[in-house]
Amino acid sequence: MTTRVRFAPSPTGFLHVGGARTALYNYLHARVTGGTFVLRIEDTDAERSTEDSMQAILAGLRWLGLTWDEGPGVGGDHGPYFQSQRRAFYDAYARRLESVGHAYPCFCSSTELEQRRSEQLARGEDPRYDGRCRALSAAERAARVSAGGRPALRFALPSAQEVAWDDVVRERIAFQSEVLDDFVLVRSDGLPTYNFACVVDDIEMRITHVIRGDDHISNTPRQLLLYRALGAEPPVFAHASMILGPDGKRLSKRHGATSVEAFGELGILPEGMVNFLALLGWALDGKTELFTLAELERVFQLERVNPNPAVFDTQKLEWVNAQHLKRLAEPDRVQRVIGYLAAHGHDLSGRGEDWRTMFVRTLGDRVRTLADAADVGAFVLVESPAMESEAWLELLAKPAADARLVALAERVAGDPQWSLASLEAATRSLAAELGLKPGEIIAPARVALTGRKAAPGIFEVMWLLGRERVQARLAAAAERWRAESPLAAGA
Ligand code: GLU
Repeated sequence: MTTRVRFAPSPTGFLHVGGARTALYNYLHARVTGGTFVLRIEDTDAERSTEDSMQAILAGLRWLGLTWDEGPGVGGDHGPYFQSQRRAFYDAYARRLESVGHAYPCFCSSTELEQRRSEQLARGEDPRYDGRCRALSAAERAARVSAGGRPALRFALPSAQEVAWDDVVRERIAFQSEVLDDFVLVRSDGLPTYNFACVVDDIEMRITHVIRGDDHISNTPRQLLLYRALGAEPPVFAHASMILGPDGKRLSKRHGATSVEAFGELGILPEGMVNFLALLGWALDGKTELFTLAELERVFQLERVNPNPAVFDTQKLEWVNAQHLKRLAEPDRVQRVIGYLAAHGHDLSGRGEDWRTMFVRTLGDRVRTLADAADVGAFVLVESPAMESEAWLELLAKPAADARLVALAERVAGDPQWSLASLEAATRSLAAELGLKPGEIIAPARVALTGRKAAPGIFEVMWLLGRERVQARLAAAAERWRAESPLAAGA
């Protein structure tokens, strides 16, 4: 039997980290086993479901590269793939369950249910449906319906039995059916509940493995009882662990970005995100940490998903991202960095290919996320980069810094070649002529040109800035030095 898995998001928000990991594990399990990855949109809640949210989820999946084999936009033999279009299935299954006595109409109003619930709570009992409509005779039911009653459909919970499954991630999980009650399958407005629709769809879509978050463990016994009542073989279940923020609490918006696309905005590559998500609760061998999606498609094993909570570690995400950035072929890396900058207010399309390549090369390892490029590259991206006060104070304390800056400005002004080699040669020969170490010219020049002490290689910086800006910045810094330094002549 070929594997069929599904990712079944409710379109009520973005594709968040937990959902993205669930989607990834499903996708990988399908790929590793040569199976089918189905995308099903669980949009029965018309009030909370939105088209925008669905589009955002699809965009998030596409961004990660998780292509689905069946579902919205691609179709398939087991559609429709929107629950809102599957009413006929739910109605048919509801009739089937009712006809064999596994479900019954319930006429209790929400006010009555609410009242009984508070009474139960007041008595210290767990709130559960008391089953009173189960006992109604066929005649009573008919009478209620003709009096205008619109019943919900409830599951007739079988008498005490154990509901257990061998969870791929957690081994055996068992519940006693008594802890459940006659839960609602179809609400009085005719809409199926999650548990019911999910089982009907998983059966109809021939799903073999249900891989989802552990927040659904409590739903699984209900779903298993439904499979039993329907005489259907249940799928294999795998409940991935929850994801915690660095403070040990369940990951949420409080921890910052949680939608995958927000990470894209923060300069995370899809490759980095996929790799990081894979490691949130899964490991190959405890050693290998870097994987591309294509590699994961070969080595992922559902059996190795870890039941313990996974901690979302931003440092780790950035590290993983940096490794992927490094691994990209240079033209690709250049394109991503330039593309990100263009989308964030720095259009570099007017620069030549050589310049853009040199720019990205110069940023080097200082760039862990694409967003870092805006910061590390600020020296050339903004007209007057901020001057770090510490760097400036140090420069003020350097004797004759102004003269060195001016001498360098003059020297490079006459460099006809303007290549890395010629700029380096000019700087070094100047230092030698002045009886200085090259660093004694380079360090002040770095501060003058970038506003920082730690910056990319000085010759690259000069090359990227170009003759005019190099001269202007060196001259401006020299002038400011003379105005502010206690060592300046006349100070
Ligand atoms: N729509 C449910 C959710 O988003 C799906 C749960 C499941 O995978 O069964 O949580």
